[in-house]
Amino acid sequence: MGAGEFELINSCFRGMGGSRKSFTRLGIGDDASIHELSAGMELVVSTDTSVEGVHWPTDFDLSKAADRAVCAALSDLAAMGAEALAVWLNVMARDASAVEKIGEGATAALRRYDIELAGGDTTRSVVNALSITVAGQVPEGKAMRRDRADVGDAVWLVGKLGFSALGIEQWMGGKTKGYFVQYLDEIRPKLEAGVRLRDLGVKCCIDISDGLVQDAGHICDASGLGMDLEVADVPGWELLCKKAGEKRALRAVTGGGEDYALLFTAPASLRFLEGFAVKIGRCSEMPGVRLYLHGEAVEVDSKGYDHFG
Ligand code: ADP
Ligand code: MG
Repeated sequence: MGAGEFELINSCFRGMGGSRKSFTRLGIGDDASIHELSAGMELVVSTDTSVEGVHWPTDFDLSKAADRAVCAALSDLAAMGAEALAVWLNVMARDASAVEKIGEGATAALRRYDIELAGGDTTRSVVNALSITVAGQVPEGKAMRRDRADVGDAVWLVGKLGFSALGIEQWMGGKTKGYFVQYLDEIRPKLEAGVRLRDLGVKCCIDISDGLVQDAGHICDASGLGMDLEVADVPGWELLCKKAGEKRALRAVTGGGEDYALLFTAPASLRFLEGFAVKIGRCSEMPGVRLYLHGEAVEVDSKGYDHFG
């Protein structure tokens, strides 16, 4: 890259995230960052890539896309019940103005959650893309995992489903002012909820990024059980039906990702506050995810997003 690279890094990224945490001893500016973890805590790390034309439409605002990408990456920490500590941002950009726009959106998301940007990489690319690495911490042994569900556990949801998927559908269909498009600006990783669930003793959780059926299926596979889920109990279901019709609503809820709701399981004895989490089903011995609509079994053909499917 030309002489502009380091100026761009300094103006777009250095000091542009949230405030420095005690976790980071040395942040942006050296060959690597240096970190220290508090006693009794485990490090939780996840990495996520978002590509123009694959994860967001090419005519979508680049800074919004970057904001969404950072939120999506942080959602994985929420799902583990981790407190977010720092983020590393690899920016692949067609030109300097794309670096600036990506920097603007990404750092806006980090400031919103007060998470430090500890490093990254900036390169020219034939396609705009971001690769985001996030680090968080959990007390030893307390991370929420996909393989911790038990038969008889209730299945709960924090957040709604389907709104973002319908927003993308409207946008791609040229309805850029459509009702659901507003939800594309509203991805919010459930970081506080994740930590709260962990503190309440929840052991098993996933964030819904690729659709309810696929992501619930990941818990079922990892935990060696099945789930019966009532679609009509999913928050926002009635509004979705009213605005999109039952068929599209069903497809969006079961196969559409991107709202980053948290799906978790907990013994029936654990109760959650009304309005915080909503119970949508139960874990059973029979493998697989079974869906019901007002108590009637329903089949869906949409099994969620698959990059190579
Ligand atoms: P190196 O050549 O040693 O890999 P770079 O020149 O790529 O280092 O980066 C210089 C510093 O700027 C490093 O501390 C790196 O973490 C930081 N940096 C580069 N790009 C970004 C970015 N997109 N976001 C945050 N920090 C970045
Ligand atoms: Mg180096």
